Amino acid sequence: MAFLFSTYLIFAKIISIFVNVNQNSTEIKAEPRVLFVDMNSYFARCEQQVNYWLRNRPVGVCVYTGKYGCVISLSTEAKDRGLKAGMRLNDAMAICPDLVPVESNPARYRDFHKKIINVMRQYCNDVVPKSIDEAIINLTNYDHADPMKVAVSIKADILSKVGDWLTCSVGIAPNAFLAKLASVRGKKQGGLMMISPQNIDEVLSGLKLGDLPGIGANMAYRLERADVKTPLEMRYCPPQRLKSIFKSIDGIYWHYRLNFIETNIVAHEYRGMQAMRQISAEKRQHINYIDQLFMTLCLTLEKRMVHHKFYCKSVGFTARYADNTRWDDAFTISVPVQDAISLMRMIRSRIEKFEAATSSGPIINTDIIQMRVAVTNFVNNGNMLYSLFEDMDRKETALKTMHQIKDKFGSDKLIRAVEMTDGKVIKDVIGFGSVKDLTDLDYK
Ligand SMILES: [Mg+2]
Repeated sequence: MAFLFSTYLIFAKIISIFVNVNQNSTEIKAEPRVLFVDMNSYFARCEQQVNYWLRNRPVGVCVYTGKYGCVISLSTEAKDRGLKAGMRLNDAMAICPDLVPVESNPARYRDFHKKIINVMRQYCNDVVPKSIDEAIINLTNYDHADPMKVAVSIKADILSKVGDWLTCSVGIAPNAFLAKLASVRGKKQGGLMMISPQNIDEVLSGLKLGDLPGIGANMAYRLERADVKTPLEMRYCPPQRLKSIFKSIDGIYWHYRLNFIETNIVAHEYRGMQAMRQISAEKRQHINYIDQLFMTLCLTLEKRMVHHKFYCKSVGFTARYADNTRWDDAFTISVPVQDAISLMRMIRSRIEKFEAATSSGPIINTDIIQMRVAVTNFVNNGNMLYSLFEDMDRKETALKTMHQIKDKFGSDKLIRAVEMTDGKVIKDVIGFGSVKDLTDLDYK
């Protein structure tokens, strides 16, 4: 073991010469001091928290409760009945006729989210919300704190100060990836589990490749073909070999994750990307066309960011009008984004605020002769601070698949639900509870 560690240290040193090292550092953190908190059945439990009559019943939170409404969160009781998130309401009711469908309340989930994050910040300033129901607490620089005690107290505080129905699973490990893994594996053991150098091999030996958050079916197959058949074998596989199996530096990051190193930021040459389009006199007669174009520009940037695994922290928007005037906007956000929906929502909400404040009339109108969306201030997801998370991965995989299909069959063949201009569908996006547009101020 000692030999292995010294090898990794040398390896880490060599790597650090070539890359920009950020606060994650490439050093081995063998002490389990990173906590990953995952709220259980979050939306459904928020509803059971507020509506007492829903407790101990199978509950399905839906974006809308029509026959074909999509169930986005299930209470524990509903999961026990065999229901799965993503089902249509009619299918779910067929399996579980006493299911109680409840329309989603994004504002409610955000409210509880803020309260939960504030509980965590009582213990440590280094709290990173990862999604509406997940957060990381990094106790690395809090030598006096006992991570296990902090975890137990946070679980109790959320129950006593935020809501007695809001349970969570906490994983503790030397890095964020393993802490996430511990939170998943610990769900059935009282929602508390620690992964440390002492037990990691034992934990990994009980898992399949697909049990690792971020390893999908394709990658599991590729690893197996290369004779890396289990997470344990992956942990002891030389990093360069993993790199060749993954056909990318990701392989090395996987080695890091399974060997207690936090993944780090790598410099890249991209400083900004923009998507711009002129609009002919004929085309700009139709506001629908202009709306579509706005979406296309955002999707173009999304596609390029997905391709490069970038997330942006600054966004710009410009509209030029036939009378030679223009409207410009640029803003910075605290949590990096990559997807077109977030870009559109943020730009539009700023436009709406401007319109309301100045009574300017619509900014996006039929006089626009050129439209431009720009993104910059990138962070690289593969290496971003605490980047490897199920929700992000799944979303990224979905986006990638969509772009591949579009490339193959043409962009009109596949349209995401949200691309249809239907208020109900747009609501879906909010319903999934992104924390992207919560700023630091929201937690005060
Ligand atoms: Mg959860």
